[in-house]
Amino acid sequence: MVVSGHSGASSDGPWTAQGRPVLSPDRRVRQSVAVNENSGEARLGVQLCRIVPVPALECPHCNAYVNFVQVWTGETGLNDRGNRKLVVMQCANEHCKRTIGALVNASNAAQVSQFWPTSVGGKSFPDVPGDIAETADEAHRCYSIQAYRAAMAMVRAVIEATAKNKGITSGNLENKIDQLALQGFIREDAKDAAHAVRLVGNDAAHGDLATMILDKPDALDVLDLMDDILDEVFQSPAKVARVRANRAARKAAAQQSTPGSP
Ligand SMILES: [Zn+2]
Repeated sequence: MVVSGHSGASSDGPWTAQGRPVLSPDRRVRQSVAVNENSGEARLGVQLCRIVPVPALECPHCNAYVNFVQVWTGETGLNDRGNRKLVVMQCANEHCKRTIGALVNASNAAQVSQFWPTSVGGKSFPDVPGDIAETADEAHRCYSIQAYRAAMAMVRAVIEATAKNKGITSGNLENKIDQLALQGFIREDAKDAAHAVRLVGNDAAHGDLATMILDKPDALDVLDLMDDILDEVFQSPAKVARVRANRAARKAAAQQSTPGSP
């Protein structure tokens, strides 16, 4: 019989782990035996390395459609005559890795019936000037509550303010985006994308935001574009400057600790 890996005492007695965990090659499930020292009773259990079905969801934190990996399992028996259980799952996106709580089918964790939070507010832009960063954060918060036109209005304000920050103050939004590209602050393809996502189309540019039909993918495209523009204009240059400063500091420190070096 296959043996063990139970991790110690349980509520109904001193259960002691016996032997080593074993993988059963056919089912890829680790079985275990725990022995109650008082009664001598042995229990066969199915342990953690069981292959848990992985659900894919749109992550409320990073908005990516990704797999979620279960990192904690709680009580089973919630609703549906005990068929659901509470779990904590982690977003598989390298850059996110944040967690959500979920109710899943107890025998198939890929079936998620509910999860929390369903949407998350803002986004921080540490290297973007304060007022612009706050408005960009507000754009993300509008998106998270499905206020897509409000998000679009915020994005336009962010881009106007970004252009102004770089000394571009004349013309409409379209001209300002063209100028940002012409002066090398953003890539040409970011400029083209601004047109493609209707950020500066006729409907948006002529103040007809109230009658514009904007769905979720449209709004997400606009937000992504705003993030890209902020990244190019503020965040990436700041990051490069930090890397350079750190390198210079390390070099200076190395020279100080090596007397006589040039
Ligand atoms: Zn995520």
